[in-house]
Amino acid sequence: MIRIGIVGCAGRMGRMLVAEVLDGEGLALAGGTERPGGDAVGRDIGELVGRGPLGIAVGDDPRVLFDLSDVVIDFTAPVAVARHAVLAAEAGKAYVVGTTGLEPGQEEILRQAATRAAVVWAPNMSVGVNLLFALVEQVARRLDPASFDIEIVEMHHRHKVDAPSGTALGLGRAAARGRGVALADVWQKSRDGITGPRKAGDIGFATLRGGDVVGDHTVVFAGTGERIELTHKASSRQVFAQGAMRAARWVAGREPGLYSMADVLDL
Ligand code: NAD
Repeated sequence: MIRIGIVGCAGRMGRMLVAEVLDGEGLALAGGTERPGGDAVGRDIGELVGRGPLGIAVGDDPRVLFDLSDVVIDFTAPVAVARHAVLAAEAGKAYVVGTTGLEPGQEEILRQAATRAAVVWAPNMSVGVNLLFALVEQVARRLDPASFDIEIVEMHHRHKVDAPSGTALGLGRAAARGRGVALADVWQKSRDGITGPRKAGDIGFATLRGGDVVGDHTVVFAGTGERIELTHKASSRQVFAQGAMRAARWVAGREPGLYSMADVLDL
């Protein structure tokens, strides 16, 4: 049995992750936390996800959860990741992170933690998007930047707090890798006003927010007289939760290191 802890267990992804653990063969729910003072703290986790009482209350102390778990899964917020990563390192426990929008300093804390704990970190845990990362890199490698412009368009639900999405940035990194450049040297994360003409080699982003869209991403390679568009649409959060379970099973018992979904899915 792999004991799984879910930090942020009352969130949109958190609830789905709890349900996947309960349904997963060979998986046991070690517990879940929410931020101190949160409405869900003290409630029965089973009832929280509509499954009837489990006799496990939502906690607010992640240190206790790390002690009880073999793997902790985190779909919360960047500040929480910085705290949880330190706990993973101290406890030497495997840690799966899907949270997006990390600042460079928070990323560095996660990288440091991965020297003492096995960490899977992925802005998108779906099989389809991880395949798309590989396709985008391949297409970008083949198309000359002087002839083809790369633009990345994403849409998410109205509650999403970071932009562009972690997945859009991941697609940008894949395109930049294909072209042999660093994304930060060529990205245009938004445009407004008199921007002047587009610079060859730039990778542009456009962000749409609204409704209940789970996650749509399109990478456009626009040339003169033709364009290629590669699109992925997620219609259920379950694909992310199922990907997180694959990551948890894969990372349990591994040596410390920073791993990606490409490692988990052997892409
Ligand atoms: P959400 O706001 O519904 O859920 C986040 C939960 O984390 C909330 O319940 C919040 O109270 C809790 N939380 C915040 N700080 C906490 C702390 N210190 N301790 C414990 N709990 C804490 O958001 P969501 O839609 O579930 O998304 C969460 C994150 O996952 C976002 O960064 C999102 O971009 C990312 N995400 C990643 C993937 C992926 O495949 N990698 C897929 C979907 C969402």
